[in-house]
Amino acid sequence: MSEANLLYVDTHAFHDVDVKGRRVLLHVPSTGIFDLDGVTTEVLDFVRPKATVSFEELLQRFSGSGSPALIADAIEDLKSLGVLRGDPAVADRGAGISVTEFPLSTIVLNVNTGCNLSCTYCYKEDLTTPSKGEKLDFDKAKKSIELLLKEGAKRDRVNVVFFGGEPLSNMRLIKAVTAYAEERCREEGKQVDFSLTTNATLLTEEIA
Ligand code: SF4
Repeated sequence: MSEANLLYVDTHAFHDVDVKGRRVLLHVPSTGIFDLDGVTTEVLDFVRPKATVSFEELLQRFSGSGSPALIADAIEDLKSLGVLRGDPAVADRGAGISVTEFPLSTIVLNVNTGCNLSCTYCYKEDLTTPSKGEKLDFDKAKKSIELLLKEGAKRDRVNVVFFGGEPLSNMRLIKAVTAYAEERCREEGKQVDFSLTTNATLLTEEIA
């Protein structure tokens, strides 16, 4: 059996899923989903338990069962998806990029761990009473902005996110931090964007 005659089966390239009797192939590299026809299902079932399969084995298995053109199409389809390959699959080691620099772009300030609502489903499991939150003070917030500027020195644009709990319950601090960050970013020649995650119950025209 010559090497050129061999096809390698890459079982990491797909997941074979049964959806209420329908055979569906989830193609891992593209995350595409393919509805398998009967012929392709048969070919897949035949090659799947094998590490390699030869054309002779395929011919022998499928001779006299179905149209040769359909069998050939199914094999070509599986080859085009990399399920059947002309060479052994090499383990995916990622893009091979070593990250040497990753300047900070965003800082999230938890300006009040508490909230004016006390939703029973609140994710803030550290608080039994969300309304009794801990507020961030201006000194710590300033240090955080300075950290963003230092660690994000190579960025032209940085982001400050106000988060909680409910950030609008500490609007005084948000105003002070916004003014400080704008001034410092102006000095450093950077643009700064602000955003916040809010339940919107404290939102007023003025705040908006
Ligand atoms: S509004 Fe959000 S943060 Fe506030 S208590 Fe409800 S879930 Fe928690």
